[in-house]
Amino acid sequence: MGAMVTDLNILRQWIDETPATARQPVLFIGHGSPMNAIETNPYTKALEAMGKMILEKSMPLATLVVSAHWLTLGTFVQVAQNPEIIYDFGGFPDELYKVQYPVAGSPEFAKETAELLPGAQTATDWGLDHGAWAVLKHLFPGANIPSFQLSIDLGKPMQHHFELAGMLSKLRDRGVLIIDSGNIVHNLGASIPMLGRGDKNAFDWALEFDGWVGNALQNGDYSKLVKYENAGKMAQLSVPSPDHYIPMLYSLGIAGKAESVNTFYESVEYGGISMRSFIVH
Ligand code: ZN
Repeated sequence: MGAMVTDLNILRQWIDETPATARQPVLFIGHGSPMNAIETNPYTKALEAMGKMILEKSMPLATLVVSAHWLTLGTFVQVAQNPEIIYDFGGFPDELYKVQYPVAGSPEFAKETAELLPGAQTATDWGLDHGAWAVLKHLFPGANIPSFQLSIDLGKPMQHHFELAGMLSKLRDRGVLIIDSGNIVHNLGASIPMLGRGDKNAFDWALEFDGWVGNALQNGDYSKLVKYENAGKMAQLSVPSPDHYIPMLYSLGIAGKAESVNTFYESVEYGGISMRSFIVH
């Protein structure tokens, strides 16, 4: 299946007709292979275009990233003044370990975030992992918007993440852009041989599940997505572990009932990796 990029002009009305001071949108980004950080392809171009659209509307005061790569027991918010870039992957070309994204942290918004979430603690032993910097680099190449991260408590059920996200709502009104970074379909075990061969074809079950999620997003049927395990075999194969799926629940838990979800990029590649990315506004 070929990649599909939605014409971002569907967002024109949102940009032109809602005040710049209105709450920030929320992004869910399928991040895929770390190589996307240094490649230029239809996906990275879609991120670039989306970043420009957001800046055209109003510059966020900070970005809060919920990444599939910061998994903890308990909930933590990174409060670093100058977050370090974490190269949390192995076996890639040297070039990837030289990428810099010299962005400031936002200890103020980070502390405020920790106060909004019951039981959350602040952390100084995390910077920005590749789920964050690899997408920020394309969205906001200027590295001029302070950025911080919220961890994912892997000990908690799906409903917890969906509800926790709702508690972050106020941050959007305060100028914080929330970016949730994972992959709706993420079966690395099945995809690694395909990556090795450079075979970009998608497995049927991956296309089926990604399409099922796309329909539920369009219909606002978020409870179905929280209970994705009920979707049987295609869900089991597409989400063998929930780490990359959970970030999407943060985008849905914070979405207002009247808000739109627009998919701006979709493709399933290397067998079982969905790059579907959307904006909530
Ligand atoms: Zn990942």
